[in-house]
Amino acid sequence: MATNWGSLLQDEQQLEELARQAVDRALAEGVLLRTSQEPTSSDVVSYAPFTLFPSLVPSALLEQAYAVQMDFNMLVDAVSQNAAFLEQTLASTIKRDDFTARLFDIHKQVLKEGIAQTVFLGLNRSDYMFQCSADGSPVLKQIEINTISASFGGLASRTPAVHRHVLSVLSKTKEAAKILSNNPSKGLALGIAKAWELYGSANALVLLIAQEKERDIFDQRAIENELLARNIHVIRRRFEAISEKGSLDQDRRLFVDGQEIAVVYFRDGYMPCQYSLQNWEARLLLERSCAVKCPDIATQLAGTKKVQQELSRAGMLEMLLPGQPEAVARLRATFAGLYSLNMGEEGDQAIAEALAAPSRFVLKPQREGGGNNLYGEEMVQALKQLKDSEERASYILMEKIEPEPFENCLLRPGSPVQVVQCISELGIFGVYVRQGKTLVMNKHVGHLLRTKAIEHADGGVAAGVAVLDNPYPV
Ligand code: ADP
Ligand code: MG
Repeated sequence: MATNWGSLLQDEQQLEELARQAVDRALAEGVLLRTSQEPTSSDVVSYAPFTLFPSLVPSALLEQAYAVQMDFNMLVDAVSQNAAFLEQTLASTIKRDDFTARLFDIHKQVLKEGIAQTVFLGLNRSDYMFQCSADGSPVLKQIEINTISASFGGLASRTPAVHRHVLSVLSKTKEAAKILSNNPSKGLALGIAKAWELYGSANALVLLIAQEKERDIFDQRAIENELLARNIHVIRRRFEAISEKGSLDQDRRLFVDGQEIAVVYFRDGYMPCQYSLQNWEARLLLERSCAVKCPDIATQLAGTKKVQQELSRAGMLEMLLPGQPEAVARLRATFAGLYSLNMGEEGDQAIAEALAAPSRFVLKPQREGGGNNLYGEEMVQALKQLKDSEERASYILMEKIEPEPFENCLLRPGSPVQVVQCISELGIFGVYVRQGKTLVMNKHVGHLLRTKAIEHADGGVAAGVAVLDNPYPV
């Protein structure tokens, strides 16, 4: 995709002046992060990194991504309810991946005891890149779906004003009007509010499981604020506090500090390093309760890369979404090549192909949060090492998506204004609520565009690689 902003990107002086204005507007709008020096305090904050200009995205692909979001919501929900599918899919992975194994243990334990939870809430974000096809046209390909702690819905609500500002300064009024309004935090909050309402206890609270060091606090506050505006109160607690102050009554209602909890919203608990023994105990306590977990443990497992890979196998979507051929077709159209590395011929062949053409593949462990995947020479070394070991089943192999790079300016606190070659990743936020067997809410609630310099293979905004952006539909 070419940029619209070609000549503007040539004028260094103008870029610097524009950047100053953009940064001030971003600060005024609340596009904020705590600093890495003081991640526990809001005394000193800075702007979240963002692009100076919105990046061009074909409207057809935006529409496609929005249109398939409800299907992804249904799919995740179906996987989370299919214990046999989860068990079979994750069997060889959990033998070699301790983190997935521990999540799976809790899942089994809760199933055995009987699930007390009756209302289910999914807040997810499906991420895509625009694969440059043989004829040069971009094609929407899913990178992954995040079923736990999907972030930046709050800040993404505030960035449109910044890009409109930049374009207005340039007297590009028509262009400014093309920047889509976006309010994922409101939609995410409406999902939480619905789950809270169905839980049905007027004095119960929402419990946000928070990290000790949280730079992305303002993103989370955007959701909390929306809830408070609906008279739903949120308390923030760390896992440690739950293990000390959390309890279940005889009906498995969850209490923290003596207050009943209707909804548990995890903004922690998606990486191994976030769990001490005490935290695993707290997670189990939460899962055993009848409070609405977002996500419940099965839905977190539904978001693993291994599940993503198995879903791409012939017949899987049809099995999980019977009688819905249109949804199945929409979903499948977004799938990139995904390959199992389980022991056996199929896995051997995938490894051979990746070793023969490393630039066409990505090696992924069962991890979230960015910076875990292996590419190029690193991938080759890892594959050679893993080849004959069962450990390889804890990874999947994925076709590498190659979008066409374009130019933009990435603005970061303390960095000079520079035009660089970039690629973007589009995320669509989805919300669903299920009560028993009835889906009572299923919708898309907004988008997130993140852009990064092409030299970084991996990593999101939190990892310090990508920056916030807005799609400029063309
Ligand atoms: P995580 O759960 O750590 O976010 P992802 O699967 O989203 O894992 O990968 C992290 C980043 O790596 C993505 O944001 C994207 O930039 C890059 N990436 C992942 N998969 C691919 C792929 N198949 N092709 C190209 N880049 C990829
Ligand atoms: Mg990701």
